[in-house]
Amino acid sequence: MKTWEKNIRKVVPYVPGEQPKGDKLIKLNTNENPYPPGPGVSRALGAMDFEGLRKYPDPAARALTDCLAEYYGVGTDQVFVGVGSDDVLATAFLTFFNSEKPILFPDVTYSFYKVWAELFGIPYETLPLDETFSIRPEDYYKENGGVIFPNPNAPTGLFLGLSQVEEILRHNSDGIVIVDEAYIDFGGQSALKLLAQYENLLVVQTFSKSRSLAGLRIGFAIGSPRLIAALNDVKYSYNSYTMNLPSLALGVEAVRDEEYFQETIKKIVSTREKAKKRFRELGFSFPDSMANFIFASHEKVPAAELFSALLREKIYVRYFPKPRLENFLRITIGREEEMEALFVFLEEQVSGWKP
Ligand code: PMP
Repeated sequence: MKTWEKNIRKVVPYVPGEQPKGDKLIKLNTNENPYPPGPGVSRALGAMDFEGLRKYPDPAARALTDCLAEYYGVGTDQVFVGVGSDDVLATAFLTFFNSEKPILFPDVTYSFYKVWAELFGIPYETLPLDETFSIRPEDYYKENGGVIFPNPNAPTGLFLGLSQVEEILRHNSDGIVIVDEAYIDFGGQSALKLLAQYENLLVVQTFSKSRSLAGLRIGFAIGSPRLIAALNDVKYSYNSYTMNLPSLALGVEAVRDEEYFQETIKKIVSTREKAKKRFRELGFSFPDSMANFIFASHEKVPAAELFSALLREKIYVRYFPKPRLENFLRITIGREEEMEALFVFLEEQVSGWKP
């Protein structure tokens, strides 16, 4: 091996879900919103100032941070934006998880946490979910270098009640607790309510799911001014211009599209609740998801076989061939007609299945 080869940082990267090309496929594999962005976003995109692209964007992304501060009723010094919540979370790992003690997160959770911890050399310990796939708050009461978990959790969809989130915060006054609320708009209550009492709490959300803008890459964190200032110091230590001009302008429009946003969420939640009923009738079981996906396992048909059959039919869902998860499929809630096509196909598969 050449010396330069030895110097290359060795990492095991996160594997994002597939983005298949072509039409006539049903894409339920990456938790995108099945509905387009709102009318304000569409108008602003059409009227975009082409000439303006010549200039650097505002490094502080003020238009968007101010708009989010107003929307969530917090100070403008309490909001940080980034290139998707992945960027915000990675920056938060780098900024806040700087202890010799391990950070704590669930064993079944967003698989990027482990990747960032490894990349940044952060010691970590994963804590097993219980047999119902629930987080046990008391597991997080021990000494640690920080805590992170999604709420609702992914890929289970389970929401941890706010009183339990608060118990975790109460027992972790010496560390920073990050609540990754990528899916919070689809159910449950946001930990934003707890910000006034806990200056060590950072809440992270995204425009990728509920606001139909995965393609623009916008995520944000809300926390105490101390935490936000620390995030900015780290951001300005590697890239001042993380947010591009179109994302800033269109992000603001997405927040203003409140009526459309509420309508879209209502549709997805209604489709999810109908889907739960259909899955149950077909012999699937699943944690009671509050997110825009369902993590389902069939009583007879192995998930790996269903996954392959669905793929042949060009119905894309997510399959994780890992211990505890290998008999589950994570299925994003699509449009009503996409879900109908999924259920027609699943019904055929399940009724025709022979071991
Ligand atoms: N957190 C969780 C729990 C997620 O599932 C995702 C989506 N992959 C993200 C964060 C990141 O989403 P984005 O970078 O698109 O905001």
